[in-house]
Amino acid sequence: MIIKRIKRKLYKALHPVMGEIWMLHRVVEHRSDKPEQRALEVTPDFLEQTILDYRQKGYTFISIDKLPIFDSQFSIFNSARFVCLTFDDGYRDNYTLAYPLLKSLGVPFSVYVTTGFIDNRLRMWWYPSEQLGITTDELKVLAADPLCTIGAHTVSHPRLDTLTREEQYKEIADSKQTLEKLLGHPIHHFSFPHGAHNDDTLAICRQLGFHTVSMAWGGPVRQGSILTLLPRISTIEP
Ligand SMILES: [Zn+2]
Repeated sequence: MIIKRIKRKLYKALHPVMGEIWMLHRVVEHRSDKPEQRALEVTPDFLEQTILDYRQKGYTFISIDKLPIFDSQFSIFNSARFVCLTFDDGYRDNYTLAYPLLKSLGVPFSVYVTTGFIDNRLRMWWYPSEQLGITTDELKVLAADPLCTIGAHTVSHPRLDTLTREEQYKEIADSKQTLEKLLGHPIHHFSFPHGAHNDDTLAICRQLGFHTVSMAWGGPVRQGSILTLLPRISTIEP
């Protein structure tokens, strides 16, 4: 136990924090009373205030596309830390509420889209009575803005670690290809639904050539963090 704690402290000392990747889902005016839905929702006011607080503390908001470059530039001698904003699943409110706010603040962000949710072809079963998926037209507007980076998040949002390698490949590769066809440019980023993955998932992501792959936990990005297994921090409104 003590050795574990010392090892952890040593790791942290040798791998200074470079920044944070925030994991968000929905932006809503009125949050749900159901705890499991509420945990996925932040209000525009909360998001704006959190961004302004971090800016005040000297953080720089950067696009996930810039991360590979920053990876080599950020060092213990660089006092500025970065934040990347990421939204999972592909909710319509990312376009209707998050986008105008982030545009007015000049904050880059990425949206990891589960392609089955586009135009509500598949339902988000954790919101059984609502149609919350982004539309094709809205997605195209986001993708055309340099402030926004679109990433993939599978076709049907399964737990990838419960699937065979072939099934995983189809889920990951098909979502990447569908987005590339729809938007007309390569998709370089991916995040795991439910954060779930195994060795096959990592091998497939490497094979498909993603520049970054994000987890659903892991704390801040540290020196030595791997771009194809990036830690994120859940941004939760109290
Ligand atoms: Zn998800």
